[in-house]
Amino acid sequence: MNQFLSRRTFILIPTMSFLKIIFKPMQVFASSLVSKEEWNFSKDEWKARLSPESYYILREEGTERAFSSQLNNEKRKGIFHCAGCDLPLFSSDKKYDSGTGWPSFWDSIQGSVETKVDFKLIVPRTEYHCSRCGGHQGHVFNDGPPPTGKRYCNNGLALRFVPE
Ligand SMILES: [Zn+2]
Repeated sequence: MNQFLSRRTFILIPTMSFLKIIFKPMQVFASSLVSKEEWNFSKDEWKARLSPESYYILREEGTERAFSSQLNNEKRKGIFHCAGCDLPLFSSDKKYDSGTGWPSFWDSIQGSVETKVDFKLIVPRTEYHCSRCGGHQGHVFNDGPPPTGKRYCNNGLALRFVPE
């Protein structure tokens, strides 16, 4: 009997750590942590500050419908700010038409966004968010144009455009 138990334990332990590896990425669903204490608002405070649509994107990592944002076709010179905290994230001179239906950039303003890996579509994707308020912006892919080869695929609802 003792021998049976120890054999079972022996099998169970590696199985458990395997499951832990599999399920660990699921914990990434909540919004990213804020880096600045003054932007550490509660859910209700964020709801009061943002439109329901922007709240869904920024605080629940939602995705807007493709081709739904006016910023997709925005061609003027200017700066794209975080809709959550107004931090400048992207410049119009690094915006390009990716054909995906979301505002796309080949580079961000240095230090303005941070990344993490999410598994919402099973396949791992690199999520990025505002480095100040933690608001979700979009995903970054490696099929962008030179010189970076990056495509920052951003939700228009997470941005506020300020023309030059
Ligand atoms: Zn922000």
